[in-house]
Amino acid sequence: MALKTAYVIRCGCKARFTARVCEYVFVDYNQDLKEDILSGEFNRVDCPSCGQKLFVEIPFLYRDEKNRLFIWVCSNKDKSKRKKLEKELIEKKTRLECHFVEGVEPGKERLVFGREELVRLLLREDAGLKKSEGGWLRKNPVVQLVMEEDNVPGCLVFQGKKIRVAIPLAFSSDAGSPKDSPEARKKWLKHYAAGVNIHNPYSSLLPSRINNEWEKVRMKEPLRKKEDEFEDFASSWARFKVDPKGFRERFPERRRFFDSLKGMEIPRKVQTLRVGGAK
Ligand SMILES: [Zn+2]
Repeated sequence: MALKTAYVIRCGCKARFTARVCEYVFVDYNQDLKEDILSGEFNRVDCPSCGQKLFVEIPFLYRDEKNRLFIWVCSNKDKSKRKKLEKELIEKKTRLECHFVEGVEPGKERLVFGREELVRLLLREDAGLKKSEGGWLRKNPVVQLVMEEDNVPGCLVFQGKKIRVAIPLAFSSDAGSPKDSPEARKKWLKHYAAGVNIHNPYSSLLPSRINNEWEKVRMKEPLRKKEDEFEDFASSWARFKVDPKGFRERFPERRRFFDSLKGMEIPRKVQTLRVGGAK
C-alpha cells in the first residue's frame, strides 16, 4: 500500500515530464520501498529525454506499525521551516486523508529533514534494522570519494547490507582550506575522513564510555564555531594529525583524549575512489 501522485518534473536538460512519485510509505506492507529508502533509490525517476536519474525530493510519510513510527520526511532545504511544517503536517494534519492516520497514536508523529536523518532515526528505533545492518555497517569498508576537481571536498560513503549513505567531508577555515596547496588539502581530507570513519551518526566505532569522555572534553574545550559532535570529532582529529604541536598548544584536553585512543582497533577500512576530473 503506497500512495503515488503525479508530479511535473523539470530536468536540467530542460525537458518537462510527468512522473508518479511516492508520498506515503507503509513499510509493514511495502518492504521494497523501505529498501529503496535505505539504498537511496526512493523517488528516483529517469528523464525520458536525456536518461539522467533525477531524485524527486517531496515530503513523504513513513509509517511503520511494528516499530510504532510515524514520520514525516521533508526536504533538507526546508530545515529552516521546521516550526511551520510541524504546525501544518503534525498539528493540522493538512496533507493527510483520514485513513492514513487510523490506529496512529496522537503525539507520536515526528518530522525529519532528508533521507539521511530518517536513516539515522531508523538505526536508533527500528530494532530489526539495527540488528540486520549494524554488523555490516561496521564491517564493510567505507569509500572516500576523492574529487579530481580542485576545492571540492567529496564525501565518505557508508555501506551496510542494504543501507547506503554519504557524509559530506569538509575543509576547515584554518587547515586544508582551498587556499592551501593540493597536497595539504589532500592530507587534511584523508585525516578528516579517518575521523568520520571513527565517529559518525550511522555506525560509530567509539564505545559509549569513550563517547562520554569525548562529550566531557568538548564541554571543557569548546570550539568558537559551533559544530555538531561528529563534525567536531572529525575536524579535531584532522587537526591533531596535520598539526600535532599546534593542536597540543591550543587543545591540551582534546590532545590527551586523542592520545588515549592510540591503539584502539579500527576494524573498518577507508578505501578511496577518484571521481570526475579532466578526461
Ligand atoms: Zn533530462
